[in-house]
Amino acid sequence: MSEADCLFCKIVAGEIPAKIVHETDRTLAFRDVNPQAPTHVLVVPKAHYPDAAALAAADHGLADDVIKAAHAVAEQEGVAASGYRLVFNTGAEAGQTVFHVHGHVLGGRGLTWPPG
Ligand code: 5GP
Ligand code: ZN
Repeated sequence: MSEADCLFCKIVAGEIPAKIVHETDRTLAFRDVNPQAPTHVLVVPKAHYPDAAALAAADHGLADDVIKAAHAVAEQEGVAASGYRLVFNTGAEAGQTVFHVHGHVLGGRGLTWPPG
């Protein structure tokens, strides 16, 4: 389940390089190319779902897998205890620019609220 011209499908396929930090049978996590915090990792399902709504509707535990992988990344990065933010920008007005669902794992500094 991949989509032509999808950047993150190409990263999953190994066609575009990325700094991979965590992998399971159904998820992949890699460093954001433009990090906004000392830890900034993107966690994706390997299968193509455009956004969080589509992932939630997948109905076979895939959303659970993505969130569990995000927490595993936070632990691995040493930010799970201090705190981290897990963000799914969903839709253009929320700032989603890549339409292959991804959770941003952000941590390693104090994060302000509300976000911009
Ligand atoms: P969005 O704005 O859709 O929530 O997040 C997309 C994220 O993907 C951005 O934080 C952006 O920096 C990141 N990104 C865009 N292109 C690439 C790329 O080629 N490689 C990696 N590792 N991250 C990317
Ligand atoms: Zn994709």
